[in-house]
Amino acid sequence: MGLRNIIKKGDPSLLKKSREVTNFDARLAALLDDMRETLLQANGLGLAAPQVGVLRRVCLVIETNTDPEEIIELINPVIVESEGEQTDREGCLSLPGVWGIVKRPMRVKVAAQDRNGNWFEREGEGLTARCFCHEIDHLSGVLFDSVAERILDPEEVERLAAEEEEEMNGEAE
Ligand code: ZN
Repeated sequence: MGLRNIIKKGDPSLLKKSREVTNFDARLAALLDDMRETLLQANGLGLAAPQVGVLRRVCLVIETNTDPEEIIELINPVIVESEGEQTDREGCLSLPGVWGIVKRPMRVKVAAQDRNGNWFEREGEGLTARCFCHEIDHLSGVLFDSVAERILDPEEVERLAAEEEEEMNGEAE
């Protein structure tokens, strides 16, 4: 196995509801391993199984608040608590080049199973909270552009990218 193809908007799988995982077997482990590889290669912050054409409640979120960053594997995840609010830019590996402004909670607590079927809880803040919400939405067939307050136009995207580059250069100096 290895890298999987990330399907893009227009593919009907992305709008379908994913089914719960009931078998915590070698096949699930292989899916998770492939998804990790695919996510890292695509340089994303999260990936949901429907994005690789598998309609199961499985997703990955990269926790960027820790050093080193950690890839969290979530099976059958549910948001059990949410708090606060943040409005910021969001994108998706299945909608390349598209950015929107999306309102999300500032903090969420997620309950999920790991690859062995054990339940755990995990809290996320800021970008990680945004990522949890975005990936869990994928499992309901919801793409970020349908919950965005607005979609940025191409010039805005270009301007923001240029600003970000400047900021990064500033940090390096
Ligand atoms: Zn996405």
